[in-house]
Amino acid sequence: MKSHVVTRFAPSPTGFLHIGHAYAALCAYNYSKIHGGKFILRIEDIDEDRCREKYVKAIYEDLDWLGLSWEQPVRKQSNHFDEYKVALKKLDSLGLLYPCFCTRRDIRDEIKRAGGAPHGPEGPIYPGTCKSIPIKRRDLKLTAGQPHAFRLDIEKALKLVGNQKWLEFNKGHQTAKPEVFGDIVIARKDIPTSYHLSVTVDDAIQGITLVTRGEDLATATSLHCLLQSLLGLDTPAYLHHPLIMEDNGKKFSKRDNSTTIRALRLSGKSPKDIKKIIEKKTKVHLS
Ligand code: GLU
Repeated sequence: MKSHVVTRFAPSPTGFLHIGHAYAALCAYNYSKIHGGKFILRIEDIDEDRCREKYVKAIYEDLDWLGLSWEQPVRKQSNHFDEYKVALKKLDSLGLLYPCFCTRRDIRDEIKRAGGAPHGPEGPIYPGTCKSIPIKRRDLKLTAGQPHAFRLDIEKALKLVGNQKWLEFNKGHQTAKPEVFGDIVIARKDIPTSYHLSVTVDDAIQGITLVTRGEDLATATSLHCLLQSLLGLDTPAYLHHPLIMEDNGKKFSKRDNSTTIRALRLSGKSPKDIKKIIEKKTKVHLS
């Protein structure tokens, strides 16, 4: 890992931050401080239907209350669709994308017809319906303005650059296995990018050297490494931390108001109390 550590916390403003977010944010913050580096806050708001400005404000307030400070200006993904478009074009110029006109229902029906599909990290693997549409029909659909996503031809992509590796903090090199995703959506029908594309572009543009995030995103890292290689971007080091669970063993949810940082603060808890709750659950000491 480079000596100048740059970490980030990248929440989506679709609800108030909860204990799990506080742990993720503190984890990124502490690593940057231990190594004398930088801590970046990024607002991942490409899904403008689900994201709200009031939650962006609440993120600033809650993190500030927890005692965190971050680099300015804050990057909001919704201001950078042009940059994701450039990356999308690059993938397209490599011949790795194809338009997909399928609705969820089309995909369900096709999987049923085929008698099932292997399961990937984001659900059943796409059965490839639109991959084999004759060019003429594809072009007709495109000129008719039929809504479409863009999918990555994972087989072609792997043929081009092969399986990548990343450095997992304290664990050594891991081999990426992006094929488990199948032909993943890289630009959505409703949004001209995807989580995977924008996070990969942003981590590179912002010079992130250590991505800390929950272990539920460890499989996504396989895909991000592939995209980095295709786009000619550096691969940062990664640290996937265990998820912090509620006492009942469930994941914290933005929908459960009682565990939001905001609710805990209003009930009289201090930032120290929040850290104690996290330390008790994770057995990790937070300075
Ligand atoms: N925006 C994602 C979330 O709120 C986190 C993405 C990441 O850390 O890579 O779950």
